[in-house]
Amino acid sequence: MSDKPFRILPRVTPENEHFWCGGGEGELRFLRCQSCTTWIHPPAPLCPACESRDLAPEPVSGRAQLVTYTENHQPWIPGFPLPYLIAIVEFPEQKGLRLTTNLVHCEVDSIAIGMPLRVVFEEADEGIYLPLFEPAEI
Ligand SMILES: [Zn+2]
Repeated sequence: MSDKPFRILPRVTPENEHFWCGGGEGELRFLRCQSCTTWIHPPAPLCPACESRDLAPEPVSGRAQLVTYTENHQPWIPGFPLPYLIAIVEFPEQKGLRLTTNLVHCEVDSIAIGMPLRVVFEEADEGIYLPLFEPAEI
């Protein structure tokens, strides 16, 4: 029996493999336009800023800021311990570069909008890593 909470596994495709598998090397990766340096998430076939198709995965620092969160008490996923924290985080690399994720290793009472976070990876399946976020010491 695994002590890891059950999570719904992502569907890994060639377009999003860099994102789900980067945690194996400790890197959170997003697509980045090689023409104008815009970061792109979720993955898209072309850059929304300049329409270039020259996109490549690049790692971000893994630092982020809490934009908003919600405490979920609904047992949407059988066996998943409740409550859990769903969050939207934004990365300093680019305004608007955001990710919906889960907050871990923190008490609800200690959460504040804007608090600094850092990525931690949870291996969900062989080679697939979920990027989750925990409070970062400043
Ligand atoms: Zn571009």
